[in-house]
Amino acid sequence: MRVLDLIQIKRDGAELSREEIEFFLRGLVSGEIADFQAAALLMAIFFQGLKDEELADWAESVAATASPLDLGDISGPKISKHSTGGVGDKTSLIVAPLVAAAGVTVPMIAARGMGHSGGSLDKIESIPGFNSRLNGASLKSVLGKAGAAFLSQSAQEAPADRKLDSLRNSTGTVECIPLIAASILSKKLAEKTDALIVDVKTGSGGLMKKMTDSRRLAQSLVTVGKRLNQRVLAVITDMDQPLGNAVGNALEVMEAVETMRGGGPQDLIELSLELAARILCLAYPERTLEGAKDQCFKLLNEGAALQKFRQLLEAQGANPQVIDSFELLPTASADFVISSPRAGYISRISADDIGRAVGLLGAARETMDSPIDAAVGIVLEHKVGDRIQAGERLCTIYYNADTHLEEASQMVEDAFHIAAAAPEARPLVYEVIQ
Ligand code: URA
Repeated sequence: MRVLDLIQIKRDGAELSREEIEFFLRGLVSGEIADFQAAALLMAIFFQGLKDEELADWAESVAATASPLDLGDISGPKISKHSTGGVGDKTSLIVAPLVAAAGVTVPMIAARGMGHSGGSLDKIESIPGFNSRLNGASLKSVLGKAGAAFLSQSAQEAPADRKLDSLRNSTGTVECIPLIAASILSKKLAEKTDALIVDVKTGSGGLMKKMTDSRRLAQSLVTVGKRLNQRVLAVITDMDQPLGNAVGNALEVMEAVETMRGGGPQDLIELSLELAARILCLAYPERTLEGAKDQCFKLLNEGAALQKFRQLLEAQGANPQVIDSFELLPTASADFVISSPRAGYISRISADDIGRAVGLLGAARETMDSPIDAAVGIVLEHKVGDRIQAGERLCTIYYNADTHLEEASQMVEDAFHIAAAAPEARPLVYEVIQ
């Protein structure tokens, strides 16, 4: 078998066999297949796609290179949550401790930011001391204490998944429906949980910009999940403007904590409750969605999620005092205010431009191993539908180096669209596919 043949098979639109997929992934992990050939195959998949059977084989073969989590003696329901990635999406930081407070165990193999979208791992690792490299015994200990844990692909020795994410990030193949589905399903297979909920983000800030693509991904996750004997629930949610107000790793941790304290922006609260309640319904099928939402609302407002988050930080080596003293988190040295050039209604905030601007400030990495600046970011003062006056503050940019500040601030200014009339409200949750 030669990798060149595999590239040509896929380039010409034919299907790869299980043996060919395994051959490719083995060579990728061992380093016998050069990055340029692996990248060529990924680009061929980007254009030609994968059939359901190929996708299932791909996900299973990727998961086979990882050591599965050993959750055997942890009792009660175990559910994982993934997001396809967005801008300002910090729901995992809230949902995991929230459902843990309701008795569900949540082991999360978290991803790094890719392209313009953030990743839960980068957010949680902005907390000084946080250890995401959990192995069998330390993972069980964290789950025993906190009910939830965030762990990295490298900790879990998922070399193929890690290498594929890294290659995709530097070859323009992040926004590829079968590769996203395979990446998420391979994590699910390694997590060994009872069910998976995937938040499929749709809109300018998501990897899928159009509803048709989001539906295709959601459908593919559910049907290929079924082929692999996995229960998957896909929820298609809005990502046409940033979620919440904060974008940037440490800033998003602060906003997640504010939300677990009973504050936080409305859209973030609403989506966190929706996803948490759906997880409870997967864990306890006799529950109604409304009943589960009421329970999650109570747990959030009584501080039970925050208490679990505190336990999680402590168990994963971070200083839990960051919850009470945000100055213990990385903070930027300077800020820059963007004001509205005119009066009107905010009709759009292009989430991808906001994400790209935060990347320019230092939050995005060139390669998966390059360092990022956890302190930089943007805090929105207004969201779509708000009425504003000329000169009113739209958002604040937090930065350390001003190398790309001019370009980033122009991008942010252009991201805000101001119109004379109020826009039509968009729902936060579009569809649920199971
Ligand atoms: N999350 C993942 O794990 N992989 C992707 O490709 C996108 C989101």
